Amino acid sequence: MKTISGKLYWPSTYSLSQTEQIRFKPLDEDEDCDYVIVGSGESGCLCAYFLSQTGAKVILLDKRNIAQGSTSANTGLLQYSNDKSLNSFINSYGKEKAVRHYQLCVEAIKGLEEMSKTIDIDPDFIKRKSLYFASDQDGKEKLELEFKVLKENGFNVERFTQSQIKEKFNFTKELALYTGADAEVNPYKCAHGLLLYAMKRGLKIYTESEVTSIIGVENGVQLFTKNKRNIRARKVIFAGGYESLEVKSEKNATLTSTFAITTQPIIEDYHAWYENCLIWETARPYLYLRTTVDRRIIVGGLDEPTIIPEKRESLLFHKKEQLITKLVDLFPQYNKAKAEFYWTGAFGGTHSGLPMIRQYNEYPNCYFLMAYGGNGTVYSYILAKILKDLVTVGDHQDAHIYLNR
Ligand SMILES: Cc1cc2nc3c(=O)[nH]c(=O)nc-3n(C[C@H](O)[C@H](O)[C@H](O)COP(=O)(O)OP(=O)(O)OC[C@H]3O[C@@H](n4cnc5c(N)ncnc54)[C@H](O)[C@@H]3O)c2cc1C
Repeated sequence: MKTISGKLYWPSTYSLSQTEQIRFKPLDEDEDCDYVIVGSGESGCLCAYFLSQTGAKVILLDKRNIAQGSTSANTGLLQYSNDKSLNSFINSYGKEKAVRHYQLCVEAIKGLEEMSKTIDIDPDFIKRKSLYFASDQDGKEKLELEFKVLKENGFNVERFTQSQIKEKFNFTKELALYTGADAEVNPYKCAHGLLLYAMKRGLKIYTESEVTSIIGVENGVQLFTKNKRNIRARKVIFAGGYESLEVKSEKNATLTSTFAITTQPIIEDYHAWYENCLIWETARPYLYLRTTVDRRIIVGGLDEPTIIPEKRESLLFHKKEQLITKLVDLFPQYNKAKAEFYWTGAFGGTHSGLPMIRQYNEYPNCYFLMAYGGNGTVYSYILAKILKDLVTVGDHQDAHIYLNR
């Protein structure tokens, strides 16, 4: 599946040194280990980070080079508020499960901050707040309710009126929530940093090694790669991103297409962006914006229901202009902004609104990690942490929220 196309921003911010490149090669001999992780996106890298701390023998495989999937397209907004509001989660799953899920999102952002201090590549993690504005009257009513529910349950949130929004941002929206506990990150640097951390603790990595089949064997599982090598392991974590759906269809998953741009570095009035916060809105699909450490602006959204790569590629040039127009509508002072980088990609969600850990009868001892949704990175962290315990000790207190067998 071609998941990404266009001119990506993050790979321009970091490249592996010559020495590090040499350490990644295809699987060229059969192997034996405790755990195999399939996928070197942020989900697989976070699993590698946690599992490498256990002393187990871990191997990670990717069919491409490191972090060339959705992770390289990810715009790096880390928010505890989900695409599905806390109020909607409470209506769907009850208060206990819904609030626990939101708390886990807050904890994940804190965990990512701690993690970013332990890895050798600085992933440009910066704590941020998020402005979540009402796109219309319906959005305003939803935000009023959501403010109350978030407050009641102890989450970090302020309510901005029209005049407060005007004063701080100089654009007109009737209502917004201003949530704390959020952050921005460079997901590409983060993935590489996590892998280097895990490699220092014994992780073996094989790139250009596509897993083509997985079979159950006594006390474990056997994986076969395209070049006919195999690995025996006790357990497998399949963190193949949206491409996992090629291996196993999943009725709770949804796929669409999304678009994003990064501008050239902005010289004029960059400071006018209040607290360099993350910005998004109540409309679905939503527009979202953030700044970068090198004074650029990232804008994303304008999702389309198609899953055909050629179709989204054909829309990309038009969408990049539309995203610039949306930026200038909000911030007229950036009217010289140009899309220096622009890309499009598959985007996965779930009908339930929750990310998933799945086990299927035909893949014994194999866990599928599906961090699908707008909070993909936060979800990857939550699921990777739970999976570390599931594969090593067989249980985790929060597994029931995400695990379906
Ligand atoms: C434009 C865009 C913007 C986004 N913005 C955000 C954002 O701001 N915040 C956020 O939290 N999330 C965001 N997301 C979502 C986020 O990108 C994903 O949730 C996340 O990166 C998924 O990581 P992953 O590791 O699960 O998947 P991927 O990064 O896709 O990694 C999967 C890996 O598995 C490998 N693989 C697949 N199948 C096989 C196989 N059979 N054998 C071997 N290897 C295999 C692939 O090569 C790939 O490297 C965005 C997504 C897009 C497209």
